[in-house]
Amino acid sequence: MSEQRIAAEDLTAAVRIHADRVHDFLRRLGCEPRAAVDVVEASALDLVETAGSTPKQVTDVVGWWFGRARAIGATVAGGSSGVPLGGGLLSVDVDQQRIAEALEQLPERERVAVLLRDAYALPAASVGVALGTDADAAMETVGRGRLRFLQTVGDDLPSTGGHPVELGALARLGMGGPVAARDATPRRHAQSCATCRSIWDAQERAHRLLAGLTVVALPDVERDGLLGRVEQHAQAALPAGALLLLEEEDELEDERPSRLLIPLYVLAGVFLAAVLGVVIGVLASRDGESRATGASDSSDPGILPPVVAPPAPSRSPVPSPVLSSAPLPSPRVFTLPPSPSPVPASPSAAVSTAPEPAVEPQSLTSDPTSGPNGQTVTVQGAGWMPGSTVQLDYRNSVGSTGSRAQAVVDSRGRFTTTIAAQDPANFPGRHVIRASNGIDPTMETPYDVSG
Ligand SMILES: [Zn+2]
Repeated sequence: MSEQRIAAEDLTAAVRIHADRVHDFLRRLGCEPRAAVDVVEASALDLVETAGSTPKQVTDVVGWWFGRARAIGATVAGGSSGVPLGGGLLSVDVDQQRIAEALEQLPERERVAVLLRDAYALPAASVGVALGTDADAAMETVGRGRLRFLQTVGDDLPSTGGHPVELGALARLGMGGPVAARDATPRRHAQSCATCRSIWDAQERAHRLLAGLTVVALPDVERDGLLGRVEQHAQAALPAGALLLLEEEDELEDERPSRLLIPLYVLAGVFLAAVLGVVIGVLASRDGESRATGASDSSDPGILPPVVAPPAPSRSPVPSPVLSSAPLPSPRVFTLPPSPSPVPASPSAAVSTAPEPAVEPQSLTSDPTSGPNGQTVTVQGAGWMPGSTVQLDYRNSVGSTGSRAQAVVDSRGRFTTTIAAQDPANFPGRHVIRASNGIDPTMETPYDVSG
């Protein structure tokens, strides 16, 4: 198996293109100005090192870099006082201020997803790499983040009434552009379903708003030095593009003689052919018997070079699809004036008052968790999409018992309701209460029937 390798030039180009976005990303994850610059560089150098030592890990250069910046950034992100971009620096622009403040309200994972997909226009696959998941799951997170974002800027969540929503598909459709084959069916459905249509509209609205986010660029005084150091490391740790192309041709020829041996085969072939030609000539002239077939077989090596030679033009250097596939939206880049207030001398000065999570993790609990058939159970949820309608379904090992309930999630993401743990089939043992709102992941909480 040949490892995919990344050329120094390609990696340097990717760093150059995305450095401002990674910087903006870190600021919006709560890094102080000095810490953000340091983490841009540290994560870029990690990228170089990993691409050089274990390129297999870096299947997506840009996604990997954002993921690494996210991880390091989390260790140096400041507390609430460090939340940098909402009220202060961009307050010249009311829209930008609203967007920045709404982003700060999102759970970190959703903030990462919408920043990468909407504000920086990275492909879904790259977003998945940065989140440690796949492209489909990433788009569901984008879809949820957009809905929460809209609520935070004051839009009402379209009521789903618990109607299941294909959030990932609607999130993709909300980008506009060509429709993937697998999204054709959800699209047809959404065109005639008011609920899904309204979620689709919401996706479009949020995407438009977020795509207009102003990117806070690396400070000019830092950029050249930082990019220079990354380039230097890349040249030391990674092969040059031209060299890589040659190596790749060789790797394509795994089963065949190595490149260095080819000239020998050619020489040997020519020599053999010459000798055989003489022999055949002699034989033929002797008795007219043709041995030519045998002779041409044994001169096979002479045929090899033409097979080997074409440099497989379809195989471009491996990372280029990843690097070039992001339609770069030339975001409005906002360069900060030199900071008037002194910045902390080292990132460690800004270390870790863990930022207050804006949203609780999603949960579902029942009380009591066991008892007789027919008991009334209180069900509580937290971390659900505010404004959504949660459907509850009491289920035995076969399926729904038919006992259901419904609750509307409050503005803090919580709900409380009751459901009858009533199983007409009178199954003993483990039952579950399943909760879904069509938007958040479905959850279950157990209820064990005793006696
Ligand atoms: Zn629908």
